[in-house]
Amino acid sequence: MAVNTEAANFIHAIINEDLKAGTYGGRVHTRFPPEPNGYLHIGHAKSICLNFGTAARYNGLCNLRFDDTNPSKEEVEFVESIKEDVRWLGFDWEDRLFYASDYFEQLYEFAVQLIKLGRAYVCDLSPEEIREYRGTLTQPGRNSPYRDRSIEENLDLFRRMREGEFEDGSRVLRAKIDMASPNLNMRDPVMYRIMRQTHHRTGDKWCIYPMYDFAHPLSDYLEGITHSICTLEFEDHRPLYNWYLETLGLQNRPKQIEFARLNLTYTVMSKRILRQLVEEGVVSGWDDPRMPTISGLRRRGVTPAAIRDFCERIGVAKSNSTVDIGLLEHCIREDLNKSAYRVMAVLRPLKVVIENYPEDLVEELDAENNPENPAMGTRKIPFSRVLYIEQDDFLEDPPKKYFRLSPGKEVRLKHAYIIKCERVIKDEKTGEIIELRCTYDPTTRSGGESGNRKVKGTLHWVSARHAVKAEVRLFDHLFLVPNPEEEKDEQGYRALLNPNSMEVLTSCLVEPGLAHATTDKRYQFLRQGYFALDPKDSGPGKLVFNRIVSLRDSWAKIRNSGS
Ligand code: ATP
Ligand code: MG
Repeated sequence: MAVNTEAANFIHAIINEDLKAGTYGGRVHTRFPPEPNGYLHIGHAKSICLNFGTAARYNGLCNLRFDDTNPSKEEVEFVESIKEDVRWLGFDWEDRLFYASDYFEQLYEFAVQLIKLGRAYVCDLSPEEIREYRGTLTQPGRNSPYRDRSIEENLDLFRRMREGEFEDGSRVLRAKIDMASPNLNMRDPVMYRIMRQTHHRTGDKWCIYPMYDFAHPLSDYLEGITHSICTLEFEDHRPLYNWYLETLGLQNRPKQIEFARLNLTYTVMSKRILRQLVEEGVVSGWDDPRMPTISGLRRRGVTPAAIRDFCERIGVAKSNSTVDIGLLEHCIREDLNKSAYRVMAVLRPLKVVIENYPEDLVEELDAENNPENPAMGTRKIPFSRVLYIEQDDFLEDPPKKYFRLSPGKEVRLKHAYIIKCERVIKDEKTGEIIELRCTYDPTTRSGGESGNRKVKGTLHWVSARHAVKAEVRLFDHLFLVPNPEEEKDEQGYRALLNPNSMEVLTSCLVEPGLAHATTDKRYQFLRQGYFALDPKDSGPGKLVFNRIVSLRDSWAKIRNSGS
């Protein structure tokens, strides 16, 4: 594969410079480093596409590394879900699956080296005292009274920390940098803390655990990473990232590059809040189809191609911004437009009897599966005397320019005939419309010789005798406001939740072919949107469809109105 050296973004521009200068001997090696403390979301997808995509672009490699330095929050369930999600998105780490915990022994040795260099010390201040000694943005910090311990004493105390001689939280190992640095991250940051916690991989072998800022640059180094791409909040940590590598005198040091994280309107990217939504039962789980998680999007029916396309289009930048969720929906529609089967499903059925249609006749009508993609072929759909249409498609007292069905008016039934509404039957007690009596014009069959008489409205329908029952779930945004993370108050996000984010319709009727629907296919229910089977709640004899996205495309409208 030829290497594409054109810079599509500032990260590629940096890599091009390195390649030109021969900095890493022409190598490009990235990594995606999730912390296994939650499920991945669409923001992580941006990072995954960027890291794996950049490696692929330069014929390089990308590792999957679990950043599992904090045993108190991490679980095996998250590790498994993350692997599944990265694979599903279409990326392959081959044999390069790593855990920061694989390096605990080497990291310990690096820490010992820093002590020997006089650049790390054991500190007995309490966490509160450390905070107090650190100073503020406007005030320099003060040196810890333990800062000038001898190398021998530090080596001895650090070894005994490892051996479990001291209480949790009673001592830490700190880097000896500069308590007056304008960058708070450089004020003797903690490298190791004592925590008696069982780790999902190392069990109870360790009672001291390294901090992320210490473990990360060295894990990158140990894996031969060249470009360590991370999000903007780590910009102020870069001097520390470099300090560890430089102070240890390491060669071929990886380079940290920051980019802006993805924020999306009407949802949240904070793992903490997503976790709360799951734990408080606001949603049914991490894979609830309303969640911005990869597993939620997958369950909803979104394809990996649509997510990759979205990540490509938003690009990478150096300043934070929020992307309109309409753009994600637009990418999903673009992807499904040519691949979804166009079928008919009536979500809120209203009975229609065609009085002049023979009782026992069933006609098999031809229907194309996708007019945008003739290769998808055609199918037969049955037409008979009793049908269902959408309740919404009938009005007894229509306003002007109402082109659906009303008394005395005509509409075309898609793939079938023109019908006319003759009479309305109501429930005697409630006055509710329960049935329409219609007639059909047999000369107007779609595709037939004289089938081209025109009427303004075309409705979808199903044949009562042949239709199959289904449950349909319609989704709306999880939050009522565009920026819930900014707008939340002391009550948190709760008041901002959209109470109507899911509508469940249990008496839908779908065309008979959908009895054989499969989870690998996507369907456009004519006039209703794109749908897919829910892989969890559907089963033999039970069809549950999720609406992936509606048909209306506000994003395309915004773009086309010449903005
Ligand atoms: P935490 O607050 O738990 O650290 P995190 O969102 O940073 O959460 P990580 O598991 O550390 O989660 O993230 C793995 C990688 O994905 C990191 O490199 C991080 O920078 C990147 N990432 C996380 N959220 C986003 C986002 N919204 N947009 C782009 N990249 C993201
Ligand atoms: Mg993180």
